[in-house]
Amino acid sequence: MSDRIRATAAKRVVVKVGSGVLAGGRAGLDGAVLRRLAAEVAAARAAGREVIVVSSGAILAGRERLRLPERPDTALKQAAAAVGQSRLMRAWEAAFARRGLVAAQILLTADDLRERGRYLNARATLQALLRLGAVPVVNENDTVAVDEIKFGDNDGLSALVAGLCGARLLVLLTDHDGLYSDDPRRRPDARLIARVEPGEPAPRAGRAGRWGTGGMESKVRAARQAASAGIAAVVANGTRPGVLAAVLAGREEGTLFPPAPRPAGPRRQWLAFASRPKGRLTVDAGAREALSERGRSLLPSGVRGVSGVFAAGDVVGLEEGGVEFARGIVNFGAREVERIKGLKTSELEAALGRKAAGEVVHRDNLAVFRP
Ligand code: GLU
Repeated sequence: MSDRIRATAAKRVVVKVGSGVLAGGRAGLDGAVLRRLAAEVAAARAAGREVIVVSSGAILAGRERLRLPERPDTALKQAAAAVGQSRLMRAWEAAFARRGLVAAQILLTADDLRERGRYLNARATLQALLRLGAVPVVNENDTVAVDEIKFGDNDGLSALVAGLCGARLLVLLTDHDGLYSDDPRRRPDARLIARVEPGEPAPRAGRAGRWGTGGMESKVRAARQAASAGIAAVVANGTRPGVLAAVLAGREEGTLFPPAPRPAGPRRQWLAFASRPKGRLTVDAGAREALSERGRSLLPSGVRGVSGVFAAGDVVGLEEGGVEFARGIVNFGAREVERIKGLKTSELEAALGRKAAGEVVHRDNLAVFRP
């Protein structure tokens, strides 16, 4: 079995569709493109796949309806999203109905996924919709999302959604054929990159399109994030009819990011990319090395400083030399860490006046950022 076929054999698939694809070269949504994509999703479903769609296009659709300028400011974008999201859903709903499928709208902000409880709740809703046979259509809740609670682009959102629903494949449909070695519009000798291995440097290519916010860099970031969590990702050209079938059949289409050989898993993906740390622990270089390179837990002896207000069970960022390199769930509150930092494990009981876990952050509750 070819590597491609293995990587794309997943039963549950997240398909992210960018605004550039949905516009089909026009100023608003192109209904024919949505109908074609819905037909492709329906074919995948008929072949036994479960598909979650992450769809951009709300701002694009609203902007056209309201006749807004090409580069609206934030408030206007949010107004455009309010008008456009219902148009976008109406178009998806109609396109899926033609194929006998029911579309379900899910709007998320980054805040919805930062708390583990809300994250799990969103997951339960997605699972229920899939069980019912609906096609979830996810978008960022642009109308209420402000900078602090924004995912920023639907690429990152789609990688998180893939982890959230246990998908094993993320297909990022854009209006380029995939990732190029250089900007193909300016360099005719730019070549399409067929695959990017985990950890392999990828060229910086392509800026954001006219309507989307992401650009190729954010696709690469999202694809890597997915791959590090064990989810294969393919960046492919959504304007090409039949692209989804080709990707799902494991044909050489676009750029493949194969899943990491030792994936971090969705829980660590949540920790690294969606959680919000309540505090920060500064650790020494030895502890950083033990955590990053040797998969160890963080012991009190490696902790140098504590900041923030947090309780046992909260998420904290781990920092060394001014750089946050990992996140983890801490076993002690901030005051207790303050009391035990720098101590040997054998000294803990006396310092705390009780028996306690030997690790400040256990290795199972730790996500180290990889470049
Ligand atoms: N959520 C935005 C929209 O629906 C698009 C964000 C993006 O382009 O990534 O218009």
